[in-house]
Amino acid sequence: MGVLTLADSDFPTLFDAAWSVRRHFHGNRVQIQVLSNAKSGLCGEDCRYCAQSRVSHADIERYPIKSVEALLKDARQAGSLRARRFCMGLSGRVLEEEEAATLCDAIRRIKAEVGIPVCCSLGFLTPEQARRLREAGLDRVNHNLNTSERFYPSICTTHTFADRMRNLEICRDTGLELCSGGIVGQGETDADIVDMLLALRKVAPASVPINFLVPIPGTPFGDAIPKLTPLKCLKILGLARLLHPSADIRVAGGREAHLRALQPMSLFIANSIFVNGYLTATGQPCDEALSMISDAGFELEVENAAAGPE
Ligand code: SF4
Repeated sequence: MGVLTLADSDFPTLFDAAWSVRRHFHGNRVQIQVLSNAKSGLCGEDCRYCAQSRVSHADIERYPIKSVEALLKDARQAGSLRARRFCMGLSGRVLEEEEAATLCDAIRRIKAEVGIPVCCSLGFLTPEQARRLREAGLDRVNHNLNTSERFYPSICTTHTFADRMRNLEICRDTGLELCSGGIVGQGETDADIVDMLLALRKVAPASVPINFLVPIPGTPFGDAIPKLTPLKCLKILGLARLLHPSADIRVAGGREAHLRALQPMSLFIANSIFVNGYLTATGQPCDEALSMISDAGFELEVENAAAGPE
């Protein structure tokens, strides 16, 4: 019997083990991350879960890359919320030359003027682009494996699991930290979830975000009914913690809808959450997240110049 199918009565054992590991590596600290959708929609890929794909008719804003000033403003806001990291997501398979130049300028100014660590989600990078971004001050790259190699063709046909793994290796070899996780609830089996988490061990991400599918009307998965319960979500997070003991385990998109009343329990396993929403979806406001963190007995992990004294 696999970990994810353990009887619910066995859950306290998994929870206790995950909490011990989490406490050893991260104490009682929780990080909050703030996302900026730096370029929205207009993507030529066909990821079935994504509102920004070429096969999506979702009612979202679509715009090219934001200006350096606009990105700087978003970063300042993240800093003022005491975010541990500012994350920028750009839709699209590749980063165009003009986009790379804008992003490098934005990263340089954010690092100099806000002093907050920066992570970007950028599609597939060339080694040269990864090097330039690293030199501009980029700390971390997000590129999720999303599911197992076996299930990947069921969620996307315009690129492969191997393409994603190769991109992670390019970024890692450039010295960038990696953020890579997945989306559960897409129709995969428990074995697919386990295999994805095991595959991630090959690239040892510094951060493992676990998203819980929220079907978006207008996307191919718009009518999907994710087979997730709050307890199963916690079990998945627990497995992620045990397989990636020292990593930042992040409760990412869909935590509000799928963990529901058990959200505070996720902090005893994970040490990182997004606040103020996701790329194309709203989420828990920062002040509510901060209350949840302190109510559960945790402390905010802060490390950026803009945050000032607590
Ligand atoms: S590559 Fe990224 S932006 Fe494009 S469809 Fe896939 S997840 Fe969405």
